[in-house]
Amino acid sequence: MALIVHKYGGTSMGSTERIRNVAKRVAKWARAGHQMVVVPSAMSGETNRLLGLAKELAPAKPEEAYSRELDMLAATGEQASSALLAIALQAEGVESVSYAGWQVPIRTNSAYTKARIESIDDKKVRANLASGKVVIVTGFQGMDDLGNITTLGRGGSDTSAVAVAAAMKASECLIYTDVDGVYTTDPRVVPEARRLKTVSFEEMLEMASMGSKVLQIRSVEFAGKYKVPLRVLSSFTPWDIDINEEAASGTLITFEEDEHMEQAIVSGIAFNRDEAKISVLGVPDKPGIAYQILGAVADANIEVDVIIQNISKDGKTDFSFTVHRGEFAKTVDLLRNKVLPSLGAQEVVGDAKICKVSIVGIGMRSHVGVAARMFRVLSEEGINIQMISTSEIKTSVVIDEKYMELAVRALHRAFDLDQQPT
Ligand code: ASP
Ligand code: MG
Repeated sequence: MALIVHKYGGTSMGSTERIRNVAKRVAKWARAGHQMVVVPSAMSGETNRLLGLAKELAPAKPEEAYSRELDMLAATGEQASSALLAIALQAEGVESVSYAGWQVPIRTNSAYTKARIESIDDKKVRANLASGKVVIVTGFQGMDDLGNITTLGRGGSDTSAVAVAAAMKASECLIYTDVDGVYTTDPRVVPEARRLKTVSFEEMLEMASMGSKVLQIRSVEFAGKYKVPLRVLSSFTPWDIDINEEAASGTLITFEEDEHMEQAIVSGIAFNRDEAKISVLGVPDKPGIAYQILGAVADANIEVDVIIQNISKDGKTDFSFTVHRGEFAKTVDLLRNKVLPSLGAQEVVGDAKICKVSIVGIGMRSHVGVAARMFRVLSEEGINIQMISTSEIKTSVVIDEKYMELAVRALHRAFDLDQQPT
């Protein structure tokens, strides 16, 4: 008998029929003798619908002005789906009880719409498990010190599930979703993309941060910090498939490198179209310029990704970096109006039609020449690299957006990711 956490995404909870299927699946696990905690998302589309209603009523106001109410509102989506699941389980003859985040309680800070979990009191959940009940805990939400309802950011139910699993030292946290695992890249771009049986937590973190949207990135960070065994698997298999087969399906996120059975050097290709490039040209090359430029950007709460500074010529240098595309105009404005005058730089130029493509793999730590191979592949395709950034287990390039699919396909092929590892 083990304590298991299941998380079901919005699509899996998308209709009463699907909720009944989830209930049957959970009942199967409970009847196999496991203690079950289930964390559902809101029914698909519900969070968008609720937030859309708010927008209709206050379109002109900055969201921060009413973010407390947004959380109060959006949290109802998970409250509804959790109660429905408890009802469906009872209809299956399985005793069950649901709790909203504030009832558990799951304590968070007060950063509405992007709160962070601080602690989870598991007494109530444990008592119910001990009395033989399946316990349902709403995803996506908690409560701050003053008793306000908070939410954890879009996709936050993943983080709720992992946090509950960590707090309760669950044997495994299974994330049931509408894909059957983590792939070598997005199968919509490369049809030959393959499901990985295992992926290391560090690789997953890199891929999640680069737009492989299978898991909310915070949930991966949480799983890494608390060593929560995490598996991503499909909720669309028949609910009555063999439980052992189900327990071994999908993609397992592992911690030990030697558990990483697929010994590929590169495990996946990630890409991200949501970035824009900004260059500050003719910057006097002297101490403090990076701070003057990026400090101002950070003060405006704008996240910066890839950064490069050229070598200087005649005492002047160029400085380039990328930001989220949605913050492109704001960043350019800020630099032109607030930073440029005091910096003595010549001009600020930008390009929003770029993308970032990355190869990710823990094997890169112990192999040389992997980045060079990536550059060769891109050169053979005639793709110009605009920026490069590397970490121990990743090499990213910024290229023209129009070559993104070509680059991803060529790299996927060149690193043999369409072949089953031997
Ligand atoms: N319902 C929330 C959202 O749509 C949280 C989640 O599904 O993980 O973002
Ligand atoms: Mg999700």
